[in-house]
Amino acid sequence: MEELVALCKRRGFIFQSNEIYGGLQGLYDFGPLGVELKNNIKQSWWASMVYDRDDIEGLDASILTHPEVLKYSGHEDTFSDPMVDCKSCGERFRADQVPDYCKEEDLTEPRQFNLMFKTNVGPIDDGTNFGYLRPETAQQIFTNFKNVIDSTSRTLPFGIAQIGKAFRNEITPRNFIFRVREFEQMELEYFVNPGSDDEWHDKWVELRLAWWDEQGVPKEKIKLLNVEGEELAHYSKRTVDLMYEFPHGLEELEGIANRTDFDLGSHSKNQEDLDIKAKVVKNSSSNAKLAIQEQDTQKWMIPFVIEPSAGVERAFLAILNEAYKVEELDEGKTRVLLSLKPHLAPVKAAVIPLKKNNKDLVDLAYKLKNKLQSMKLGRVVVENTGNIGKSYRKHDEIGTPICITVDFDSLEKNKVTIRDRDDMSQETLEIDQVSSFFQQKISG
Ligand code: ATP
Repeated sequence: MEELVALCKRRGFIFQSNEIYGGLQGLYDFGPLGVELKNNIKQSWWASMVYDRDDIEGLDASILTHPEVLKYSGHEDTFSDPMVDCKSCGERFRADQVPDYCKEEDLTEPRQFNLMFKTNVGPIDDGTNFGYLRPETAQQIFTNFKNVIDSTSRTLPFGIAQIGKAFRNEITPRNFIFRVREFEQMELEYFVNPGSDDEWHDKWVELRLAWWDEQGVPKEKIKLLNVEGEELAHYSKRTVDLMYEFPHGLEELEGIANRTDFDLGSHSKNQEDLDIKAKVVKNSSSNAKLAIQEQDTQKWMIPFVIEPSAGVERAFLAILNEAYKVEELDEGKTRVLLSLKPHLAPVKAAVIPLKKNNKDLVDLAYKLKNKLQSMKLGRVVVENTGNIGKSYRKHDEIGTPICITVDFDSLEKNKVTIRDRDDMSQETLEIDQVSSFFQQKISG
């Protein structure tokens, strides 16, 4: 973990947030390379959900959430962790995460601590006009269910996907970006006919494992955990957690839950007419019927929902951890390598003029860069340091799949040298062929 944290800071992937004022715990900022990797992860998830399939629509809902949404969802009452205070060190911990150095007799009885951030909404601050920063993106998918159905004429099964910020006032944020207070989730709510829910649940576990594999986190590295007993959320019929061996231990990367008809049932009006299977609180506030009309019987019913929910930060950490390698080279030398999949690499190619102060070389490098950039496959940079070895080392370390060196042969014979990140092999290519080579390398 220390090596990953150091690399992230050194190269500009991740910085501690508010650092110049001493920092705020559980918050991180994504730097010039971090924002690229993060965007690429989200883009890959979005493409696999919304573009590659024909049964999923996207959504981008508000972060500030009406208190009633989180009342009926159960978050106001149940979204809490038991917490203890240690009288000796003065710190507060989650009851199941007390460090060894605290003695049992120094701990207070566990108390429930709600994890939601509450904030004032509007100009009057009298405690009655408040909203929550959403603790998960899911709820606003449910509240928009009717809007999406009405505007798209979807029939079952179909899904709504959303990527966005979520906030949890975690008692003990830790392990770098693994457990933070502000993070992003990539959530799909996939609505199915009751009765087909178990089958769809298993299918989504397989589909998600395949996606992780494509991001460089192989199936063999993920253990499936059937969540049981008290750990199982009150709304869930069954939850399968994808557990990954993070640098600090085996922990949840993604949760895939069968939330039954609990959420739509909880937020719907006319609940008594809808044969809701889950135990829901009577809703007297909602003005929408969150149900779907069965095609053959014309009867209104509430679908079940399967929810694959992954955190972007945990994805980032797992992907980085899998890609990070320290390789032994000749003469006792080593190199740090990030073998990121090309579609995730923050920089897709670096164009390096052999000499820093040679105008012809630098101009040609920028010309080539602009040409590759216009292909819109991701960021391309000119690395104008005049030190080829150093440039290669830097781009190995940040995972750039190819470096393209422009030298005097480029000016005279229209040729450049392409160096591969993974095997360090070099080949000469006509400048005219660079675009198609690049396309092939990055998008396969
Ligand atoms: P944990 O048990 O680790 O607290 P959870 O079961 O509360 O996680 P979910 O509510 O299932 O998590 O959230 C779905 C996903 O959101 C998780 O799999 C994880 O990737 C991400 N996530 C949840 N809480 C955090 C957090 N505090 N920091 C970063 N990512 C998080």
